Amino acid sequence: SGKFFVGGNWKCNGTKDSISKLVSDLNSATLESDVAPPFVYIDQVKNSLSDRIEIAAQNCWTGKGGAFTGEIRRVVFVEQLKDLGCQWVVLGHSERRHVIGEDDQFIGKKAAYALSEGLGVIACIGELLEEREAGKTFDVYAVSSWDKIVVAYEPVWAIGTGKVASPEQAQEVHVAVRDWLSKNVSAEVASKTRIIYGGSVNGGNCAELAKQEDIDGFLVGGASLKGPEFATIINSVT
Ligand code: 13P
Repeated sequence: SGKFFVGGNWKCNGTKDSISKLVSDLNSATLESDVAPPFVYIDQVKNSLSDRIEIAAQNCWTGKGGAFTGEIRRVVFVEQLKDLGCQWVVLGHSERRHVIGEDDQFIGKKAAYALSEGLGVIACIGELLEEREAGKTFDVYAVSSWDKIVVAYEPVWAIGTGKVASPEQAQEVHVAVRDWLSKNVSAEVASKTRIIYGGSVNGGNCAELAKQEDIDGFLVGGASLKGPEFATIINSVT
């Protein structure tokens, strides 16, 4: 399942000052990971953060830029993300599925466009019917470059609640997702694709989760806003 992958999803948190502090904590920690800053701070982060840490956007649009006056929440152009130095985009996060109302087909279109333009996709899948959801998210487009996809399993009940999945619960779903990839794509893709866990990961619970065979990293929300704790999490899987 390849190299471990830890992403920090900062969601819509931070100010120029707090982000500058977080960046300097991460720069002094000698770590490799990915962070997803709020859109308006991507440029600040890219210009100050070590190149060891790649930048992900938290969303993108399904096609080229143009006439969408004032839009930033739903319409974000892949070309501009690349121009700002992003290598990844988080798609299908439950906050977008459930709060904003995005569905698999729409997410699939965005993923197809992002991949066709060379961005990597951190594809989030949710709670109850993980296998089916993985299927719906992936079969609507032809993925030519599976090495550019990381699958994040984030049970909705664990996001921002402090209720982390047990290592066994997460492992069970990760195995199901890997089986799905094996049946629907190929055994090689199944074994190489990184399947990461997200939902209330913190410095205290990361080590036990990281021991599970099919957990290949984490997508971290709240704890990624605290530099030293995020460093602990990254170190738990490297
Ligand atoms: P928390 O780590 O704050 O639970 O958030 C998880 C998440 O949504 C990452 O994308």
